Amino acid sequence: MKTDPKNTRKPLAFYYLIAMIVIMLLNALVFPALMSPHVTEVGYSDFLTMIEENRVQEVAMDTDQIIFSAADEEGETAIFKTGLWPDDDLVNRLKDSGASFAAAIPTQDSPLLSFLTGWIFPILFFVLIGQLMSRMLSKKLGGNAMQFGKSNAKIYVESQTGKTFADVAGQDEAKEALNEIVDFLHNPQKYKEIGASLPKGALLVGPPGTGKTLLAKAVAGEAKVPFFSISGSEFVEMFVGMGAAKVRDLFKQAAEKAPCIVFIDEIDTIGKKRDGAHGMGGNDEREQTLNQLLTEMDGFDGAKGVVILAATNRPESLDKALLRPGRFDRRIPVELPDLQGRVAILNVHAKNVKMDENVDFDAIGRATSGASGAELANIINEAALRAVRLGRDTVSQSDLEESVETVIAGYQRKGAVISEKEKQIIAYHEIGHALVAARLKNAAPVHKITIIPRTSGALGYTMQVEEEERVLMSREDMLNQLITLTGGRAAEEVVFDSITSGASNDIEKATSIARAMITRYGMSEQFGMVALETVNNPYLSADTSLMCSQDTSARVDAEVQKMIAQAHDKAVKILTQDRELMDRLTKHLLDRETITGAEFMDLMKA
Ligand code: ADP
Ligand code: MG
Ligand code: ZN
Repeated sequence: MKTDPKNTRKPLAFYYLIAMIVIMLLNALVFPALMSPHVTEVGYSDFLTMIEENRVQEVAMDTDQIIFSAADEEGETAIFKTGLWPDDDLVNRLKDSGASFAAAIPTQDSPLLSFLTGWIFPILFFVLIGQLMSRMLSKKLGGNAMQFGKSNAKIYVESQTGKTFADVAGQDEAKEALNEIVDFLHNPQKYKEIGASLPKGALLVGPPGTGKTLLAKAVAGEAKVPFFSISGSEFVEMFVGMGAAKVRDLFKQAAEKAPCIVFIDEIDTIGKKRDGAHGMGGNDEREQTLNQLLTEMDGFDGAKGVVILAATNRPESLDKALLRPGRFDRRIPVELPDLQGRVAILNVHAKNVKMDENVDFDAIGRATSGASGAELANIINEAALRAVRLGRDTVSQSDLEESVETVIAGYQRKGAVISEKEKQIIAYHEIGHALVAARLKNAAPVHKITIIPRTSGALGYTMQVEEEERVLMSREDMLNQLITLTGGRAAEEVVFDSITSGASNDIEKATSIARAMITRYGMSEQFGMVALETVNNPYLSADTSLMCSQDTSARVDAEVQKMIAQAHDKAVKILTQDRELMDRLTKHLLDRETITGAEFMDLMKA
């Protein structure tokens, strides 16, 4: 941020000092003088003298002092005070001198003035000081602490995001849809002539890391119109009511700058369904913010040229009101990249990295099915880091392959202590997976087997890679997966006649596959094509909820057990038959720690 030239301010301490000095002066001089303007303190002997000279006019007794009015030297009446002394005869002498006795003598001329000086002025003074301080404080804190309701939406213009559509690999449909919006903002005339009006808002929807934020930034780069960007979480602030105020402010700014684009990232943080029940209390603030957003979206018409983009990976949790026509009525899906997309993303991110001439992105793309753009970008970076660590000046294929595993399975756990016996168990376990997979018809080929432990906790790892992109899974594919997953534990049983905790991850995966086959894919004979579970979030596969009776649910559990037991039996059968081959393969794996799919196939044939 640039600093305002007018803002060359003196340090805070300077103002502090000035304020302190002023307060001290006022305290010592001005206030006391104002409060008791005319009372003169005199000694008791002076008082006695004045009585003798008959100058005392009125006398009042206080608890600890005598206040009296008397003519001073020039004959003017003034107010005096003096201390109390034991003086039995005082009353008589005063009476003789002609003084009168009063209940009280006001020590000040005007009660209003005394009220002002005693109360109002000091209070005013401190309020002013307080305001001055808070203003300075809020300047120091970047203008955020005390300025209630000011949005800190950043205005991105083209040069500032520095991203264009060229930085986004794949995602052609999303780019096309966004391009239309950009084009509209450039030539609104073209659209007006034919009578088309653009949707007010578009929602980028897709799993995390697929480039939604990146796409929005690229739109800013392409659009050459002002681009307001704010993240949903920024609306949810410390003070109640700030969120709604921020929305108001954001749209006010946008209206001034139209044509322009407003981008709300992670809109689900404010746009969650309003459920009416405020059990936990804190919902009010979010609802207020959401209501304000809806109001603002309705408040302007698209012809003005404000287009609202938003991004979320939880579209199902959004309030229906947001998705109504006239609001975010256009959805732009931003999906996980396919093989082509993955290779393109790898290429984009490799542009600024020195690569070996013979790196094969196609192979990396194949090994990373299901990876998001963010993960792929991470893979390139990890590979570059590894190359530096090993003292090379270009990134090689092995760096890339290693970083695929790093990103997918965690870092290699160097120096982890594993006994020979454990290593043997792990090797048999992994060969068990691989051999079962190789013996099954139409199972995905083995790509790599390793018994190098990972920080993620995996002690070994068998990677299978499909020959081509798959969008559909058949029942056979899923059963093959089940059998392959149980292969590890089966090998332990066949060889050692005992089982270990090493299969926990396999068991978890197998259970969820078997469950999904029964409850979601209609692949079990017992239940047929009945949905027993709904998927709450298509991008979080674990986010499901049951929709069947307790009785059915118990039968589903039994069916899951049966399917896995059958798969396990099959794996045990295969491995028992191939025991000799399994021993040979395991010995080789123990020697090398890592073997490739090609080596594995060669050994199978030998
Ligand atoms: P999202 O907002 O969808 O969670 P981001 O836009 O933040 O994901 O993406 C994170 C990073 O991943 C980007 O900064 C970029 O480096 C990389 N990335 C994701 N998708 C792509 C893509 N299609 N092309 C190039 N890079 C991508
Ligand atoms: Mg994002
Ligand atoms: Zn396993």
